[in-house]
Amino acid sequence: MAPAKDRYEFESDNTAAICPEGWAALAQANAESAASYGEDKWTERVSQIVREIFETDCEVFLVFNGTAANSLALAHLCRSFHSVLCHERSHIETDECGAPEFFSGGSKLLPVSGANGKLDLAQMEAVILLQQGVHSPKPRAISLTQSTELGTVYRPQEIERIAEFARQHSLLLHMDGARFANAVATLDCAPKAITWEAGIASLAFGGTKNGTAAGELVVFFQKELAREFEYRAKQAGQLASKMRFLAAPWAGLLEKGVWLENARRANQRATELAEKLTATLGLKPVFPCEANAVFLRLSEQLVARLRGLGWHFYKFVEPDVYRLMCSWSVTGKDIDDFIQGVKAASVNLPGA
Ligand SMILES: *Cc1c(COP(=O)(O)O)cnc(C)c1O
Repeated sequence: MAPAKDRYEFESDNTAAICPEGWAALAQANAESAASYGEDKWTERVSQIVREIFETDCEVFLVFNGTAANSLALAHLCRSFHSVLCHERSHIETDECGAPEFFSGGSKLLPVSGANGKLDLAQMEAVILLQQGVHSPKPRAISLTQSTELGTVYRPQEIERIAEFARQHSLLLHMDGARFANAVATLDCAPKAITWEAGIASLAFGGTKNGTAAGELVVFFQKELAREFEYRAKQAGQLASKMRFLAAPWAGLLEKGVWLENARRANQRATELAEKLTATLGLKPVFPCEANAVFLRLSEQLVARLRGLGWHFYKFVEPDVYRLMCSWSVTGKDIDDFIQGVKAASVNLPGA
């Protein structure tokens, strides 16, 4: 029997190709030489469009990936004796190899629980109360992820309540927006409404999962907080000398609203996937499907068979919850193929 074709459609949104608009912009940037280290017109254009999109005069920096964007932004908000409240399932806590602590020279992450990947206010209050003055790192910031690691989206009122909490405790707000586009697409709101207008100080704005090859933006909405950030980025090895090749695909995303189109399509596919899994197989998502991810409780046997059919996807929440992530490039046929795969793999399943 021929080996099953590897299918990465639902493994992550970073298994997808570069989107056509990003690719075209990259080719355009490659047609001529240009100034280095971000002194080029593409980088300037991206900063300018970001200011237009957020309707404010913010500071914009390009780094290579999301780990750098989060870690360097947080390091810039904090001193070594500070701490950052974040969700216990947040990328900065579980997936960045201690980079926020490393780049900040010791700022401690304080994990907080909360349903559906969202920070719970009572839990945050409890964590703050556990701090013992000078004996504990001083709480300095809250990091929230939008859309969340569990595929949910904070509503503007939820962000407002977290912002109110932050004001009461004199904390700064950082947003991990690796999938910020997906959240904006779901909420159909002005980007400013869930960022600086709500009190977000810094945003890691993700493009990789939206359709570029690499390069995430660090946006500071309070200009004074951005002071000397270029030195921090350079010291961390995050200043690209040929920055135009990170910037051009970003311009391709941001011009003409491609970033939102890509996010809308990915979100729509996830909704379709969730609906079809429920309707045809009785499989209900474990968390509300509000962005581009569907989480399912699956047996190990079923997963082994699906993997045998070539499907790749992650176990995400122990012991038995799996994540199906949709990118801009997932098609209706991919979804139908997966549904057929689950049907085929379910036949004569032990224990079923
Ligand atoms: C993908 C992702 C990042 C960035 O990860 P890198 O691999 O460092 O680019 C950050 N936060 C979240 C929530 C993510 O899913």
